[in-house]
Amino acid sequence: MTTDAAHDPRAPRAAASVVHYADEADLIVVGYGAAGASCAIEAATEGAEVLVVERASAGGGTSANSGGLIYVGGGTALQSALGFEDTPEEMFKYLMAACGPGPDEKLVAPFAEHSVAHFDWLVEQGLVFKEAFFPGAHEPETDESLTYSGSEDCHPFCEIAKPAPRGHFASVMGSKGAILMKTLMASAQRRRVRVRGDTLAERLIVESDGRVVGVVVRSAGEERCLRARRGVALTSGGFIWNEEMLEQHAPWLRRCKMKVGTENDDGSGIQMGIAAGAATIRMDAADITLPVFPPVSFREGMLVNCQGQRFLNEDAYMGRWGEISLLHQDGRVWLVVDEPSFGQPKHIPDIEVVAGDSIAELEGEMGLPTGSLQQSAAFYNEHAARGEDPLFHKRAEYLRPLSQPPFGAIDLLPENSVYCAFTLGGFHIDADGRVQTPGGEAIPGLYAAGRTTSGISKQGYSSGISLGDGSFFGRRAGRAAATAPT
Ligand SMILES: Cc1cc2nc3c(=O)[nH]c(=O)nc-3n(C[C@H](O)[C@H](O)[C@H](O)COP(=O)(O)OP(=O)(O)OC[C@H]3O[C@@H](n4cnc5c(N)ncnc54)[C@H](O)[C@@H]3O)c2cc1C
Repeated sequence: MTTDAAHDPRAPRAAASVVHYADEADLIVVGYGAAGASCAIEAATEGAEVLVVERASAGGGTSANSGGLIYVGGGTALQSALGFEDTPEEMFKYLMAACGPGPDEKLVAPFAEHSVAHFDWLVEQGLVFKEAFFPGAHEPETDESLTYSGSEDCHPFCEIAKPAPRGHFASVMGSKGAILMKTLMASAQRRRVRVRGDTLAERLIVESDGRVVGVVVRSAGEERCLRARRGVALTSGGFIWNEEMLEQHAPWLRRCKMKVGTENDDGSGIQMGIAAGAATIRMDAADITLPVFPPVSFREGMLVNCQGQRFLNEDAYMGRWGEISLLHQDGRVWLVVDEPSFGQPKHIPDIEVVAGDSIAELEGEMGLPTGSLQQSAAFYNEHAARGEDPLFHKRAEYLRPLSQPPFGAIDLLPENSVYCAFTLGGFHIDADGRVQTPGGEAIPGLYAAGRTTSGISKQGYSSGISLGDGSFFGRRAGRAAATAPT
């Protein structure tokens, strides 16, 4: 732990040096997004007095701007009503396969086991889910409430775990993230959670034995100390807007044109915790989405690298497209389509396309080695005609020989396309949101959840996991803090 040094703006303040506390509560929650709201609700439900500090004028954070998709499953009431079978065991198997490398079983197991109850809790807070399934490969603008939001139903995951749709949306035609946050904040308000807006948390306050007992905040230019009788929860989002942290941990994310988050995702909470002795893990991990769908017809195309070779089944989730393209192919990838499979991607307005009347001509336009794309296309087409994909096992419904000119290649280089990224690395927590030291011990009085932590996804991502694990572990952190001894 660093000392209260003037040169480190995040260094903790020694409790012994605090002469006056401007306010106090059992639990102080830093950041009022989905993780913070869930934490506050649960702690208040357990009888704790909760104070939330939020640097923006009002709560919501990135969560309110999000698509509102929440990853829950294992046999939720909505899954069952729509005829989809799921169990905690199948959900666990999928997450362990899809959220790696190296997902933390200690987090994934309770997340899967208690997912049905977490869905029921979301309903109890006031979210309404409609018994309607959305079959698309992207987020709906309609009001259906259940969808496949990852790669559950395609290779290799469909062979590892029985596929089930686990992306749950509140049923609303407008912003689903806004409804989520409105509902959670209304629930917190009913439980008398107090919120201080326009209040930036700058440092933690710690006792000489390392226990976290408060927060130093800045509001209207004035510094104030707030005392936390049972603990502080850091739920202040990730660090996609902190260029220095990106440069240090994941410089490749700087190539992604769309930073998925508000500018308050600047890593301030993570820095405060590190200065108080917290361990961070997997700081290089991120959701990297390449939003190619719609049109879903792109799944009939061939995603190739700069050697003209396929490297992924094109029916995979868009987060998998982005992750594998950027991290394993340096982003030097193209989507090859023919006339029926072409369309204007809704979320990549300025696409760069080269065209040819034959695959050979297209190959030349793309500047690929002669014969490379032709060989890939010949092999692909031969098997696609039989509904087979021996290399990557794309589902038969998307297999059709690419044979109808003109042919096109969409340039998916990050600089010519739109990769969307937010960070997934952060505090090492246990299943009750207790922040760990590098030695693996819980820091007394310090809790965290959401993108301030390394949660369920250690790199591989499926839509809804961020709001899913943020709300789930936010609740667990709130409960643990509320029931901790003073
Ligand atoms: C367009 C878009 C669509 C998305 N769609 C989905 C989706 O459908 N499903 C999904 O799971 N994820 C989605 N995401 C990602 C998801 O929204 C975020 O990862 C998630 O909301 C993070 O939640 P959080 O509670 O950890 O942080 P946030 O919701 O960002 O909350 C953190 C809060 O902390 C505050 N804060 C920060 N620093 C301080 C400080 N020092 N002092 C006081 N307050 C502070 C911030 O102002 C903010 O209000 C989407 C994101 C975007 C932008």
